[in-house]
Amino acid sequence: MDEKELSKFRERLLKEKADLEGELEYIESTMDRSQSEWTGENQYDNHMGDLGSATFSRENDLSLSLNVRDLLSKVNDALKRIEDGTYGYCRVCGRPIEKERLEVLPYTDLCIEDKKAEERSW
Ligand SMILES: [Zn+2]
Repeated sequence: MDEKELSKFRERLLKEKADLEGELEYIESTMDRSQSEWTGENQYDNHMGDLGSATFSRENDLSLSLNVRDLLSKVNDALKRIEDGTYGYCRVCGRPIEKERLEVLPYTDLCIEDKKAEERSW
């Protein structure tokens, strides 16, 4: 991959990173707010109080935030690979990842064949 393409992917990844960080901040601020709503006025007396009814929606927020974190760490890894010159190569077979695949998933580190193999092994 030439310098020009690489810097194009770096820009996309940096934008993705900024978007994800913003999203994460938003999700977490929503979580903080709903937590103080559940505990209400008693939050000091009873801060470990009955959160049972709210657990379900909190779990949804939590898994959403985990997904975003997961994606963010993939984006960060990809940026690191751009720095050390291994970006665009499959971490399993070492072959260059298909260009079309990187266009869709710029943070991927598996070629289409190894991605399929990984999904089959699940
Ligand atoms: Zn591969």
